[in-house]
Amino acid sequence: MLSNIKFAAERLLGSSRQCSHTDRIRDVERGSEGCEQCIALGDTWVHLRMCMTCGQVGCCDSSKNKHAHRHADEASHPIARSVEPGEDWMWCYVDEKLVTSAR
Ligand SMILES: [Zn+2]
Ligand SMILES: [Zn+2]
Ligand SMILES: [Zn+2]
Repeated sequence: MLSNIKFAAERLLGSSRQCSHTDRIRDVERGSEGCEQCIALGDTWVHLRMCMTCGQVGCCDSSKNKHAHRHADEASHPIARSVEPGEDWMWCYVDEKLVTSAR
């Protein structure tokens, strides 16, 4: 009973909202070394993200072109992983949350 109330309150506040897209995570292979679309444009990027649904590499939201975010919207592939050295966190562009998957 008490835990139900707590759960309802957390849902209202959104504090325990988890990403609901983790079923979109696949065993992907990295599509390219850099952001393919930036390379095609002759542009540069700040950081790289890899789509966890298809493996496409795109640039992050700190980069001018935000290709990873655009790919997430256009392809409906919400989750991307950082491919920066030493980083393995994932981000959901729909929930705007870090994804803590069981994998
Ligand atoms: Zn999500
Ligand atoms: Zn790019
Ligand atoms: Zn994708």
